[in-house]
Amino acid sequence: MNTNGIDLAQLRQLELLQNVDPQTLRRIVDSATVRQLTPDEVLIERDAESPHLHFVLSGSLAIRLESPTSDDVAFVNAGESVGELSVLDGTPPSAWVVAKEMATTLTIDEATAWSLTRASHDFCLGLLRKLAERLRANNKTVVAASRRHRIAEEAAMFDSLTGVRNRRWIEERLPVLLQETGAHLALAILDVDHFKKFNDTFGHQAGDDVLSAVAKAVDDQLRPTDTIARYGGEEFVVVLPGTPDLAARRVAERLRTSIAALCLRSRDGVSLPTITVSIGVSAFATGKTDLELISEADKALYKAKEHGRDQVVLASDDLSLAETPASLGAT
Ligand code: GH3
Ligand code: MG
Ligand code: MG
Repeated sequence: MNTNGIDLAQLRQLELLQNVDPQTLRRIVDSATVRQLTPDEVLIERDAESPHLHFVLSGSLAIRLESPTSDDVAFVNAGESVGELSVLDGTPPSAWVVAKEMATTLTIDEATAWSLTRASHDFCLGLLRKLAERLRANNKTVVAASRRHRIAEEAAMFDSLTGVRNRRWIEERLPVLLQETGAHLALAILDVDHFKKFNDTFGHQAGDDVLSAVAKAVDDQLRPTDTIARYGGEEFVVVLPGTPDLAARRVAERLRTSIAALCLRSRDGVSLPTITVSIGVSAFATGKTDLELISEADKALYKAKEHGRDQVVLASDDLSLAETPASLGAT
């Protein structure tokens, strides 16, 4: 027992010092400082100068990244140490270390820690093991964080109302899909007809339910490689890889008729009128960008509206000879 109240047997309980010889241990005890910490008391300040190596004799410490009072990200328990990295690379600590509960620590300064590396091979080995542990733990954290990031990114590409993909998906994935499966990729833009009137008559809630029903009706009919995304408001984009334009017309026709056949009811059970959609279809050709594909489908959709709604128009269709219904001007 020395003036610190620490005896060598206690030091041998510490991971890093287990096999260090008694003479070196005595030097540590002589130059060390012992601290009693109360819960939440700060042991290491983030970005503080003058690195130290701390051993936990009893109790436990918490690592906190944002501030001394932020969430615990890891713990340092009795027998373990903290501060090795700062001592080794001479950079300030990157986290706060506070007492999780009543704790006793033993602290040595940078110079003593370095002298230990020269005096004890076992101490060096202990440090190396500690570093390897930290690296592994960091790798795990990085992998977990990137997984969480991927999941969040995925979630950000779904529309909260209808559950199908959203506009962000179109903007980010369509250019990639064009590169991967460009040939014969067709794109359809589908817009609910006179939806404003529907909303005005039956209410926004019924309108929301209709949008979900339309998205589901379309989704139910698509192949696994096809995708429906809500482009915005009452417009949906359907991406059909490996689909030449005539086949895309057939798909779009099928979607149109199935939507017109939906039996819609309000939440209180009242039967709602059928709704129709107009669909514009464009097909990929070499050199065409995603924006051009969307713009062509949009123009075809406009023509479908102009020619009476509830119909499919291909970007390549020549409607100049077709009659525009006199009662339905362009809107
Ligand atoms: P058109 O046949 O020319 O497409 O006419 P429209 O009334 O469908 O088109 P317009 O662009 O005039 O109005 C679209 C309406 O869609 C306006 C808005 O009330 C409705 N709408 C857009 N987004 C939502 C939504 O998220 N929920 C509901 N309930 N309605 C929406
Ligand atoms: Mg619209
Ligand atoms: Mg509309």
